[in-house]
Parts: sequence; structure tokens; C-alpha cells
Amino acid sequence: MEQLAAWASAFGLSLDANQLAQFAAYEALLLAWNERISLTAIRVGHEIRIRHFLDALTCATVTGPLDGRALVDVGSGAGFPGLPLKILYPDLRLTLVDSVAKKARFLELVAGELGLRDVTVLAERAETLGQDAAFREQFDWATGRAVAELRVLAELLLPLCRVGGHVLAQKGDSAPAEVAAAGPAIAALGGGPATVSTIRLPETDKAHYLVLIPKIVPTAGRYPRRAGMPAKRPL
Ligand code: SAM
Repeated sequence: MEQLAAWASAFGLSLDANQLAQFAAYEALLLAWNERISLTAIRVGHEIRIRHFLDALTCATVTGPLDGRALVDVGSGAGFPGLPLKILYPDLRLTLVDSVAKKARFLELVAGELGLRDVTVLAERAETLGQDAAFREQFDWATGRAVAELRVLAELLLPLCRVGGHVLAQKGDSAPAEVAAAGPAIAALGGGPATVSTIRLPETDKAHYLVLIPKIVPTAGRYPRRAGMPAKRPL
């Protein structure tokens, strides 16, 4: 895990021995559980450290310190980017959402085994939470990686974000085109203009992108639409 610390350090992020031990335990659980339930196509520790752990940690280059903040990670799957950010910032108030119950159980197990406090795991659809007053516009940050194209993701994330908060989407090569296509959807959902940062991970020549969208006005009550509609008929 020392290599992970060095990579993170190149992004201005520091990890102590306890945090590295948490990443080692997380990696072991991910590899073990991947034998039983499909969590990730990446099955080699070295690759997990770059393409999952470090990739998730790079969100912090845009968010800044998250201690005391409320962050919801939608479609978290095996915990990305939410759990690495929680390891980096132990006082983050983290909510992990995935509609698949067995993934939610894995997330609960990891949080328990790593001794992470203040982690809520919800086996629920983002569209349902977005219309629930207990979650709607309650978060400083709403994140999503590899969940849906940006027009769709905006409808899942912006309703959960408070005015003054931000959506952060992790995207690949399609980021510039997705941002261009999502302009009307973002505006309709209460978001402001998106800004895009480029991230270069070690040992890969492909750039990754962090798409940051400020929430500037409350989301109209009709959004998000019922489960499945954002993907079926993107705004
Ligand atoms: N974010 C993780 C990552 O980058 O490794 C997981 C990505 S995985 C391809 C997408 C996940 O989003 C799946 O686990 C799926 O169950 C979840 N998902 C998709 N649509 C969702 C929705 N509307 N509400 C909640 N979870 C959703």
C-alpha cells in the first residue's frame, strides 16, 4: 500500500499508516467477495489500487477536505468513489446508495470491518430517495461514477444536493460530449454551468475527467421522475 500513498501524495493527498491498513483490508474484502458476487472486473490488487482506490481519491482534488460534510455516493457498487473518500476524510458523513441489495450488504460489511463511523448504506434507487424529504436536498456533495450518462446522472444526483452544494461525476473519454449534451438537463434540475478537470492516473495513458456541477436553485418538485424514467427518457 506504500505505492498507493506515493501516488496519492502526487495529487497532494496524504495517507497515514492507519488509512493504508484500511485500504489493505478493503482490498482483501473486495477480492474475496468478488469470488461470490460480481463487484468489479478488476481482479488484481495493483490495478484495484490505481483504478479504484486512487481514481476515487482524486475526487478530493476538486472537493477539498470533506470532514464534517454530507456526501451521497449514488450507484456506489463496491464503494467507489464514496468509501475511499471516507477513508481519506474520517469525519465525512457518508451515505452509500445502490439499488442492488447484495452490493449494499457488501458496503455495510466493509464499513463495519474497517471501523468506519457515520456511514449509512441504502439499498434503494436514487429516484426514490430524491423524492423522499429525508434525503432530498440534504447533501453537500452527490457523487457518481460509471452509473449513467450525464443527462441521466444529473437527474439522479442534483435533487439530492442542497442549494450551494455540488454534484461530482467521474467520467471517461466521453466527458466533454456528455457535458455539452447535458446543459439543458442540468439547468432544468437547478444546476449551474459544469466545469471539467482532467485527471491522469499512473500507468495509463487515458485521461479521466471530474465533472463539477454547482447546485444553484432548488430542483423542481417533478424531478426526479419515477424510477427508470431518467434513463428511459433523458432530459
Ligand atoms: N460506482 C461504482 C464504480 O464506479 O465502481 C459502481 C459502478 S456500477 C457500473 C453502477 C452501479 O449503479 C450498479 O451497482 C447499479 O446497481 C447502480 N445503479 C444504477 N442505477 C441506479 C439507481 N437509479 N439508483 C441506485 N443505484 C443505481
